[in-house]
Amino acid sequence: EKYKSQNLKEEMEKILPISILNLLKLIGLYGNELGLNVYVVGGFVRDLLLAINSKSNGTKSIPYDIDVVVEGDGLLFGKYVAKQLRAKYVEHPKFHTCSIFYRNGENKIIRIDIATARTEYYEEAGELPKVELSTIKKDLYRRDFSINAMAIKINSGSFGILMDFFNCKKDLEEGKIRILYPLSFIEDPTRILRAIRFEQRFGFEIEPNTLTKLEEAVENGYLEKVTGMRIREELEKILEEPQPMKAIKRMGKLKIILHLFEKTYYSPTLEKDLEKLFDVREYFKANLPNYLNKVRLFHIVLCVLLQYTPEESLKKITERYGLPKDFIKNLIQVKNVFNEISIDLNDKEKTSKLSYFYEKTNGFQNEQLIFLAVKLPEELLAKYYEYLRKIEKLKLSITGKDLLKKGYEGVQIKTKLEEIKKKLLNGEIQPGEEKNLI
Ligand code: ATP
Repeated sequence: EKYKSQNLKEEMEKILPISILNLLKLIGLYGNELGLNVYVVGGFVRDLLLAINSKSNGTKSIPYDIDVVVEGDGLLFGKYVAKQLRAKYVEHPKFHTCSIFYRNGENKIIRIDIATARTEYYEEAGELPKVELSTIKKDLYRRDFSINAMAIKINSGSFGILMDFFNCKKDLEEGKIRILYPLSFIEDPTRILRAIRFEQRFGFEIEPNTLTKLEEAVENGYLEKVTGMRIREELEKILEEPQPMKAIKRMGKLKIILHLFEKTYYSPTLEKDLEKLFDVREYFKANLPNYLNKVRLFHIVLCVLLQYTPEESLKKITERYGLPKDFIKNLIQVKNVFNEISIDLNDKEKTSKLSYFYEKTNGFQNEQLIFLAVKLPEELLAKYYEYLRKIEKLKLSITGKDLLKKGYEGVQIKTKLEEIKKKLLNGEIQPGEEKNLI
C-alpha cells in the first residue's frame, strides 16, 4: 500500500498529556502481545494534528475520548485491554464494538471506544482474483470526511506512524471538508449536518464538489429518509458548538431547515429572532439562571424556528423529533400572549406595572418565558426581566389558611392571593404588609 508516511511520535510526546500518551502506548503494547495492528483514529487524530499545527500549547483541545480500531477481533482485544488496565468494559455486540472506561491518575475517566476493522474483499473486474485491501484503509474510507479519516498506528515499534491514504492532512491544513466517495451523503445523510458542524467549528469550508453533492442530497429528499432521532442527535450536537447561529444560518441558506422541518421557511425575520434567542439566553445565564433549569436548548430553538409553521405540519414535526406533547399548545399560547401585548404596547400605564406580566404569563413554563423574551419589543424587555427577577423571589407572608380563617372561601381565596401578589410586585405594599389587606 502506498500512502504518505509520517512519524508523529516526537510531536505526540511533546503535546499529549502524559497520561494519555502512556495509555496509548500501553494499548499499542497489548496489540503486540495479541499480534494485532492497533490504531487511534478519527477526531482524536484530527484534533492532535490541529494542535501540532497551531504551535500554541494545544493540549487543551485534545479530547479525552479515544477511538481505537483493531485489525482483528476488536471485542477480544477490548476484553484483554480492560483486564490489563483493570478498567470497566462495556460491549455493544450489535455494532461489534466495545467501550472501556479507564480512570487515570488524575481521577479523570477516559473513554476508549474500540472497533473492529474486518478484512473485506472486493471483486476487481469480474474474473480477476479477489484483492484484499489493507483493512485500516477500508475502515478509513468509510468515514464521513477526509479530516476525520486518518489513523495513527500505536503498536510498540511503530508508535506514531500517521496513516493518511487520501490526502487528508492536506485538507486539514487547507481547511477543507471533503467527502471520500461520491455517494457519501446518500449512504448516510446525517453527514450533511456533520459537514455543517465541522465547517463552523473549525472555520473550514465545505469544498465545492462536496458542497454540490450535499446540495443534491438535500434537494433529492435524503434528509427526509433519516429517522427523526438521528437528525435530532446531530442537531443537538450543532447546538452544543460555541457558535450555533453560524451553522443555523448555513442550514437556512442551503434549504436544510426546510427539508428538516416542512413548511418552515428560513426568513430574515426568523433569523433575527433566532439571533435574539442566543442573546436572550446569555442574559438568562448571567442574570436569571434558575429559569434555565431543565430547559432544553433544542426545545426553545424549535419554538422560535417553528413559530410560523402551519399547525398541520407542526403535528408531524413534533412526532418526528420526539417533542413534548404540549409543545404546540405552549407555542400557540405564547404567540397569543405576544399578540395581546402588541395591542397594549401604546398603553404605557398598563404595561409599566410588573403585575401586567404576571397577568400575561402566570402559569407559563420556562421555555415559554424565554420564548416570550425573544418576541417582546425592546422597550418592554427590561421591565419583563425585572418582573422575572422579582416573581422568582416573591413569597407571601400569608397563606390560603389565613384567608380561610378570615371567612374567605373557594375561588375568593385564589383571587385575593393573586391580588396581594400583584400589589407586592408593583410595590404598592411592602413584604410583611400582606395581612393588612385581609
Ligand atoms: P467530536 O469532536 O465532535 O466528538 P468526532 O470526529 O470525534 O468529533 P464522533 O461523532 O465522536 O465525532 O465520531 C468519531 C469518528 O467516527 C469521526 O471522527 C468519524 O471518523 C467517524 N464517524 C462518525 N460519524 C460518522 C458518520 N455518520 N459517517 C462516517 N463516519 C463517521
